[in-house]
Amino acid sequence: MSDVDDLLNGLDPEQREVATTLRGPLCVIAGAGTGKTRAITHRIAYGTATGVYKPTEVLAVTFTVKAAGEMRERLRVLGAAGVQARTFHSAALRQARYFWPRVYGTEFPQILESKFAFVAEAARQVGVRADQALLRDLSAEVEWAKVSNVRPDDYGAVAVRRQRTVGDIDPGEVGAVLRSYEQVKRDRGRIDMEDILLITAAILADDPAIAAEIRRQYKWFVVDEFQDVNPLQSTLLDLWLGGRDEVCVVGDPRQTIYTFAGASPTILGDFTTRRFPDAPRIELVRNYRSTPQIVAAANEVFSGRGPSVTLGVRLQSQNSPGPAVDYRPFADEPAEADAIADRIVALHRQGVSYREMAVLYRINAQSEVYEEALGRLQIPYSLRGGTGFFQRSEVRQAVTLLRGSARAGEGSGSLADDVRAVLAAMDYSDTPPEGRGAVRDRWESLQAIHTMAVDLSHERPDADLTALVADLDRRAEQAHAPSTDGVTLSTFHAAKGLEWDAVFVAGAQEGTLPYMATMDDPVAIEEERRLFYVGITRARRHLMVSWSAARKAGGQARRKPSRFLDRLLPEKVQVSRAPKRKVRLPEPDLDYDEALFERLRAWRKEVSQEESKPAFTVFNDATLKAIAALRPSSGEQLLQVSGVGQSKLEK
Ligand code: ATP
Ligand code: MG
Repeated sequence: MSDVDDLLNGLDPEQREVATTLRGPLCVIAGAGTGKTRAITHRIAYGTATGVYKPTEVLAVTFTVKAAGEMRERLRVLGAAGVQARTFHSAALRQARYFWPRVYGTEFPQILESKFAFVAEAARQVGVRADQALLRDLSAEVEWAKVSNVRPDDYGAVAVRRQRTVGDIDPGEVGAVLRSYEQVKRDRGRIDMEDILLITAAILADDPAIAAEIRRQYKWFVVDEFQDVNPLQSTLLDLWLGGRDEVCVVGDPRQTIYTFAGASPTILGDFTTRRFPDAPRIELVRNYRSTPQIVAAANEVFSGRGPSVTLGVRLQSQNSPGPAVDYRPFADEPAEADAIADRIVALHRQGVSYREMAVLYRINAQSEVYEEALGRLQIPYSLRGGTGFFQRSEVRQAVTLLRGSARAGEGSGSLADDVRAVLAAMDYSDTPPEGRGAVRDRWESLQAIHTMAVDLSHERPDADLTALVADLDRRAEQAHAPSTDGVTLSTFHAAKGLEWDAVFVAGAQEGTLPYMATMDDPVAIEEERRLFYVGITRARRHLMVSWSAARKAGGQARRKPSRFLDRLLPEKVQVSRAPKRKVRLPEPDLDYDEALFERLRAWRKEVSQEESKPAFTVFNDATLKAIAALRPSSGEQLLQVSGVGQSKLEK
């Protein structure tokens, strides 16, 4: 069998159809984990292997830097190195940088990492009074207007029509802030992230010679996660295509989670109905990622939500059954985080590596409690969504040192030893420092470089410091930060497209998921539901969904489990929220069963001596009281509520 046929072997019939339909336009619509990304990666590899595509003429656009890096890596393995797999931003940045001097005759301007300070300045200039929170909302609105192709002068009218509000600022005034922001930015000679796309689009639209050059370079376009493309990105794609139709888009309308940033759940449908009415549309329904238990939960998320969201068929898991989805209530967030950390340790003992686990949550601010809990048990972790890895001073310093050592031809031991020796000059050692904050961040950066060296020598046993530095340079150029070999802590947003063996969907309570600010907007609630769907569908085998009744330890138990759990919770767990039982989770005057509490404490003490320490042993007294307050009538019920080992209880 030829190599070319090999590329089609690991695909099912529908995926194979995607991979062999090399001419565009083509649209693939399918649910999570059905192999969309895999199918288009194989399509590109098949196209290049059969000589239809020249690798350098393919531009594959993915949503995150990490996804782009993974796609490049897959393509390299499949023999299609040289294909450009990038985010819209990085693809546009490359072109804008290249053509800028020719068009404007100056050096490429500096890029603004955060709009906040300039928006604050702009607001001051036009006399809009706004506190920090409102300024953040204003920054987000500036971004929305830009990616939605709404100009400052038109903003007022558009905002009224679309019922957009920023605090109680008059829409006309928001328009004035937008205008002033652009001026402030221009005065300082800076550009922002959206400008990168706008500049590229402007060059393509206004300079026929450059447009022709770019279009000669790229002939084949593939866009992953098309459901979250915003109007500006869509405009750029049109300009790249320049009337051609060699484009394949892939997406899942149920994973549209960026409408706040200008995406629209109708964009995928529009592609086939309006833009390219003749484009074949391929649907995939087999889920290869997750166990039947996880897929069943995912299917349930949209049940009863009407045809527009249930679009597509129910997913069918192709995997053998795994453990049941673990739904867990907790008294407070620290207890929830401790239990997750403990479960991570248990899974690690069972052989699941740390990098195959992720804790996912709604907003970045939630990471703190998990960082603390993981830190306490010395579990390595890395935060996703952090940008600018190669701009960090410790990374720059480390690269400089490594480069120097590579030139000096140092190295008698393994690559990893060499790297450790070089980084020792920066006080790096294998053990993470205590606590969190800047010291821990710095260590993580260096640890990431060390892990990269280990990975590299696995891949290429002869790799030396020079090879490592070359790899670092390449990654820096592609803004592709290495990940540390640890548990991933990430928001749902930053986790899209990715997968792990074990996923903890944390903080699944009303007010957090759905997020407070969305709770009286039915449209926004549906986006929250899609976020939940994205979260649970990241898991391959182990999925735990947890929530807590109070934020702080000993706080009032005010929170309810997320409404998205209504159809998912096994009845026994729902006991804890049945109104008649009047369950009060830990409060100072908690009405709990003293005898049961003591029994649980004794049991905790006993099992904590055991080697296979179950999650239960880290439950603090408040949590035990909360469980005891439920007064479950049988050991089985208790098991459902808390995950307590039944055998122990029946003793
Ligand atoms: P998402 O919607 O989350 O982006 P996706 O549809 O892009 O998911 P992939 O990430 O491509 O799905 O695939 C999910 C997992 O299933 C991957 O681990 C992939 O390697 C595996 N997979 C996909 N198709 C097959 C197949 N035909 N045989 C075996 N494994 C497969
Ligand atoms: Mg994908």
